[in-house]
Amino acid sequence: MVDRVKRWIREEIRELSAYHVPNPGNMIKLDAMENPYLWPDAMKQQWLAQLSDIGVNRYPDPSAQQLTQRLEQVMEVPDDMSSILGNGSDELIQIICMALAKPDSVVMAPEPTFVMYQMIARFTNMNYQGIPLDEYFQLDMPAMQQAIERYQPAVIFLAYPNNPTGNLFSEQDVRAIIDMAPGLVVVDEAYHAFAGHSFMPMLSEYDNLVVMRTVSKMGLAGLRLGMLSGRKEWLGEFDKVRLPYNINVLTQFSAEFALRHDDILQQQTDQICADRENLKQALSRIDGITQYPSAANFILFKADNMDSEHIFNALKADNVLIKRFGDTSGPLANCLRVTVGTGDENQAFIKALNAIVN
Ligand code: PMP
Repeated sequence: MVDRVKRWIREEIRELSAYHVPNPGNMIKLDAMENPYLWPDAMKQQWLAQLSDIGVNRYPDPSAQQLTQRLEQVMEVPDDMSSILGNGSDELIQIICMALAKPDSVVMAPEPTFVMYQMIARFTNMNYQGIPLDEYFQLDMPAMQQAIERYQPAVIFLAYPNNPTGNLFSEQDVRAIIDMAPGLVVVDEAYHAFAGHSFMPMLSEYDNLVVMRTVSKMGLAGLRLGMLSGRKEWLGEFDKVRLPYNINVLTQFSAEFALRHDDILQQQTDQICADRENLKQALSRIDGITQYPSAANFILFKADNMDSEHIFNALKADNVLIKRFGDTSGPLANCLRVTVGTGDENQAFIKALNAIVN
């Protein structure tokens, strides 16, 4: 059995470890950049009443036209651009790589960044090149330029704001990268709702730029829905690789419903942004904690004189789950990432952290 698996499963897949998501149990869940709020009761009741009219016996609209149009409005996609939807933006990354994967083609991203770029590059048999960010987690432009010239990447992924560092790269640097890239540049704006800066209005300035968004951080992570927008020459090709019916009927209906109440989603986002600032202040009052600037709904930090594993486990013992970055020796060494939760959750986290480090 094992021999056969060894013989037929690609070596680079066998070498991978599966993407591990810890079980949160009843803990305060501040590990996954989710919006902590549910919908108001009246909205939930309305949704439930309308859900019963959905026919799950039929396939969904294969290209989710109505939802695409609504999302394009909400996300302010320029009129002359096209979009496709994905089962989360994860699937869009996969679609992009599947369409670009020639033997020896290269996926490039600055690092540290969202791990799925590297993982999906491997799944699709592409070569991955991670280029270290500088000490401020900004793009190292000489290194990027050299790597772009050397590896001629088919695609460069830039998370804007970046995960897990939380910062926005300089706009000028991103523009310079789009200018020097021989292939496609994907600006991944998963955290756009909290950032206030976007490359969406700049799509028409470039012929090698696409912008990716998700509804996951707007309170709809469970629906699994992302959007990729750009020139129709690119999007038309990506659409051929997309599986038909990739957005199921329940997601199509529920996302459209939620976007009709986008004032409520916006209120929640505003609250998260205000609470992020409170959390930054509270962290800055704890001696021995270094935090990094964030334009997202999470904050990267570390304790100057304490091991991150100890902090992570002690927080867990206090019922608070955050994210710890393995035993890296690079720029994330000893770092932890906390997602902005409700006011009460953030306070519980700060109280527990204070007691652990002092
Ligand atoms: N891009 C970035 C930068 C992310 O951090 C994440 C999720 N953590 C995603 C994309 C994937 O989001 P989705 O839920 O839409 O698959």
